[in-house]
Amino acid sequence: MTVRRPTIGVLALQGDVREHRAALEAVGAATCAIRRPGELERIDGIVLPGGESTTIDKLLRAFDLSAPLRSALRAGMPAYGSCAGMILLADRITDPASGQQTLGGLDITVRRNAFGRQVDSFESDLDVSGVVGGPVRAVFIRAPWVEEVGADVEVLARVTGGRADGRIVAVRQGFVLATSFHPEVTGDVRVHALFVEMVRKRS
Ligand code: GLN
Repeated sequence: MTVRRPTIGVLALQGDVREHRAALEAVGAATCAIRRPGELERIDGIVLPGGESTTIDKLLRAFDLSAPLRSALRAGMPAYGSCAGMILLADRITDPASGQQTLGGLDITVRRNAFGRQVDSFESDLDVSGVVGGPVRAVFIRAPWVEEVGADVEVLARVTGGRADGRIVAVRQGFVLATSFHPEVTGDVRVHALFVEMVRKRS
């Protein structure tokens, strides 16, 4: 069965919750904010916004959301993580903060703040596999990159040019999508459209 108007939860502990909800609604999803475990039961997919992955990890545990979210992901709930959200979905971090945990679900290794501390943020045009209609304007803010991917992970985008040339910044594994960058701040909703399409297919 295909759900025409899936309901997508946006984890609302930190980050661009409003912008993600607006982008998802613009491409035909209903949305809700997720702050409590019970709220996971009524959604078809979840977005994990950027922010600070160590803080979100602590808040997830404080709100008793870590374990239920991990089980939902294990059970195949579609998920999209941007920036810190990508870190939360990664199975491995090269340089975790002390005690930092992830939810996992993506067979990747990420490096936090990978572009260097001097380069706090930058923008670049990227070709993203699965996104038609020309390059995506990618905004990176203290972003991670993907150091290694497992056999089942599809690389959707790499940086071209500069010091980070060739670095992986968008991936997909089954129904889990992650980007190092923040599409919610650009007004270009094509990455959200890709995720909503994934959720429709899964539902
Ligand atoms: N550097 C942040 C982290 O480690 C991610 C930054 C972001 O989400 N914009 O979580």
